[in-house]
Order: sequence, then structure tokens, then C-alpha cells
Amino acid sequence: MKEYDVVVIGSGPGGYVAAIRAAQLGLSVACIEKEKAGGTCLNVGCIPSKALLQSTEIYASFLHEANNHGVTCDNLHADLDVMMKRKKAIVEGLVQGVEHALKNKHVNFIAGVANLVDPHTIEVVRGDEKEELKAKNIILATGSEPVSLPFLPFDEKRILSSTGALSLSEIPKKMIVIGAGVIGVELASVYSRLGTEVVIIEALDQICGGLDETISRAFFNILKKQNLTFHLGAKVLSGQANPDGVTLNVILKGMDEKESMQADVVLVAVGRRPFSEGLKNIGLDFTIRGFLPVNDRFQTKIPHIYAIGDLIEGPMLAHRASLEGVAVAEVIAQKQTSVNYLSIPNVIYTHPELASVGLTEAQAKAFNMELLIGTCSFKANPRARCMGETEGLVKVIADKKSGRLIGMHILGPSASEIIAEGVVAIQNNVTLESLVRTPHAHPTLSEAILEAAENALGKSIHL
Ligand code: NAD
Repeated sequence: MKEYDVVVIGSGPGGYVAAIRAAQLGLSVACIEKEKAGGTCLNVGCIPSKALLQSTEIYASFLHEANNHGVTCDNLHADLDVMMKRKKAIVEGLVQGVEHALKNKHVNFIAGVANLVDPHTIEVVRGDEKEELKAKNIILATGSEPVSLPFLPFDEKRILSSTGALSLSEIPKKMIVIGAGVIGVELASVYSRLGTEVVIIEALDQICGGLDETISRAFFNILKKQNLTFHLGAKVLSGQANPDGVTLNVILKGMDEKESMQADVVLVAVGRRPFSEGLKNIGLDFTIRGFLPVNDRFQTKIPHIYAIGDLIEGPMLAHRASLEGVAVAEVIAQKQTSVNYLSIPNVIYTHPELASVGLTEAQAKAFNMELLIGTCSFKANPRARCMGETEGLVKVIADKKSGRLIGMHILGPSASEIIAEGVVAIQNNVTLESLVRTPHAHPTLSEAILEAAENALGKSIHL
């Protein structure tokens, strides 16, 4: 039986990164995967959704914006089939890239379903074949799966998880999205841009919980203008798929009577839960919500078995899993390592994009901190004006005592890219004073960050 220093179960952005880093550190490594390399992010998550968001954004910009630039086009048409093929090709290319990277870094990539047999033995099942591997250390990076509603099991035809919604063969006339979280608003954007009537039902009184309040309010107002209908504080009681579509019974906020709603398809986007099949035979304890508890070195209660990414508590983000992948490999190789969770950014790829890092104003106030807060609207940003992308704002939050930036929230064009400035600043304890003295090219979107910082310090030049 082959023995490795490290066996990684799962090859998503947590698992494959952990495997490569461990191999770089001189350890013998195998990585077991039951699907394709790259995990949810690459195959049925971040990457395919961003490919479709890009295609539909181009279509929407020709439909609604191009004429403002003096560009007109007749017979504009969105071909979903071409969009899906393009998405598939992007995914396949990147999957191959991950497989090559694993091979080049001398990780033994093993296809099959892994089951833990005992704390050092992993069984790999591939069709009728079975093999067993021994491991000195095991890294569990099995990720998560979509949560379904008990009365609406996924059939991926009418009742869709995010996976099904990323592979529709035709544009639905009407879609109901249950859950106004990140997946809900991103996929609602994809189909509403293509002409689908989209209704979003959310149990809470706000969308995408946990955002800074100023930004959340502005975000909600912008999305409402994009032909998305929201029912907040609403509860779906039951539902049924039939050959023509889906019927839901919903109680809307403030109503006693239930209302019947119909749609061609329903996307259930009420969250994801850790995927732990095959990991439960050796006495590891899971929380009620299915997470695997670990210490600050990613060790489970069996010290040579580690867990990272969506399987453990924390934001379900690919880049967080990758950071943990690097760190856990370094822990096993007995190197100094750490993950700074305060500087992990969060992005929602709507139009405009929303990106944030660090604390919200409410979180900072809960720590009884005295704050310096500044904002800058993209209306005041020359580059945004040239682009015709003036919706949204930048908000910066700093600790008044030290002057250090502790939060940055951006709703606006290319927010996913320009947030990197806030990430670097928070990671390196940069002060607002230092930020405003940092040269920012003109005209750029990132000048809105500079101006928000100047605003917080009471020295705005333009505002
Ligand atoms: P989420 O937790 O972000 O949102 C789920 C929403 O559904 C919540 O607002 C919740 O209140 C609502 N909800 C729950 N039960 C409901 C019910 N019965 N009826 C109506 N509403 C209900 O979950 P998600 O959007 O499914 O995303 C899953 C995870 O994947 C998240 O952790 C998310 O951060 C991550 N993700 C990240 C990105 C990104 O970084 N761009 C993209 C997609 C997913």
C-alpha cells in the first residue's frame, strides 16, 4: 500500500493549493478528487458564473448603454447556447491548468471517491475498483454543496440549484429566486439581463446580509432599478413542480393570506452546507450545521487530520480556502504561517460590483471604536463619468486613534479589482494619512478611494 506524507481529499481552491504547497515544501503528496479538478469554484461556481455574468453584461450594455456613446446596433440578439459553450470552454481550459499544475509540482492526482477507513487509511473507490492509501497527514478539503428546501428537492429542470442554473438550455420567461444572497443576486442578474422576469423571495428584511448599511441600501436601490422584483421578509411555505413550471405558496411580509406564484423555473439559493460524505467513519465530531471544528492550526480532534475551506466555519470563499491551503501545508511542514481573516475581501459580481474588506461601520462601532468615516460617490470620479458608470460609492472606515484603515466598501465599476488597494492597506496596517499621500493615477476609478480617504480626514479637494 502506497504511503504519503500528505493525502489531500478534494481538489478545489483549498485542496489543490494545499497539495501544491505541500509538494513545494518537499513532502510526498496525493490529491484525491471525485469530480474534476478545481472543485465547485472552477466547475460549478465562481468561474462559470463569472463567464455568464460577463457575456450577459456585454449584451446588457449594448442594449441599454451603447446608444449613450453614439453606438447603435440593429438586431441585437443574445445566444444562450454560444454563451454556455464559451463558459464550458473556459472551465475546461482552467481545469486542465489545475491538473497540469498538480502534475508539474509532483502531486499524485488520483480520481475517485475517498472514504476515511481509519485515521491513517483512505479508501479510494473508482467504479468497481478500490484502492487503499496510507497517509501520515490528511487534509480534508471537501468543500460544500447547495442546501435544498425540504418541500422543493432539486430536479435541475424546474427546481434548480446554482449548478442547474448555470447550465440552462433556454432562457426562461419567468424565474423565481429563493434567497437574496450572493448566488441569488448574481444569477438573478444573469437571467434578468437576458429578458427573464425575475422575482426574488428573501426571508430576511435585507439582501446579502452582513453588508455595510450605507452600501447595502445603495445596492438594493440600484438592483431594484434593474427589473428585479424583491419580496423581503417573505416565507415560501410549499411548492410543486409540474410539466409547465413551478407553483409556490408564499406568505408576503405583512400579509396573512398565502399567495400563489408561478414561474417556469425556481432557483433555490438559500445557502450551502459543508460536504462531509465519507468522512464520518472515524469519530470526527461535526457541528449541528455540519462544520468540522478545527484549532488555529487547522487540526481536527485527530491532530494529524486537518480541515480547511468550506468544511470549516468561516466565509465560504475560494480565496479564503486557498489561503488556508497554503497555511495548512506550512503547518504540516513545520513552517511559520498564518491567515489574516480581517483582510479577506468579499465580492458580489453584479453590475455595478460590490466589494468589501475589513469591518463594516456597525461592526466597528460594536467594538466601541472612535471612527473616521469618509465616502466618495462615483459621480464625482472623472474616469467613472467617462465610462458612464457613475452609480455607487466608496466608503472608508478608519480607527480615529491610530488612523489605521479598518474597513473599505466599494459599490461601483470594477469594485472587484480596486478593492485590492484596501486589502493591501488593511493587511499592512496602512493609515488614512499614508493612503492620501499615495500617488493615484489620474483619471482612474481608484481616485474615488483617495477622495473617500481625504473626506474621512476632512481634507477633500473636490468634494
Ligand atoms: P447566502 O448565505 O449568501 O444567502 C442565502 C440567502 O437565502 C440569505 O439571505 C438567507 O436569508 C436566504 N434564505 C435562507 N432560507 C430561506 C428561505 N427558506 N426563504 C427565503 N430566503 C431564505 O448563500 P448563497 O447565496 O446560497 O451562497 C452560498 C455561499 O457561497 C455563501 O457563503 C457565499 O458567500 C458563497 N458565494 C460567494 C460568491 C462570491 O464570492 N462572489 C458567489 C457565490 C457564492
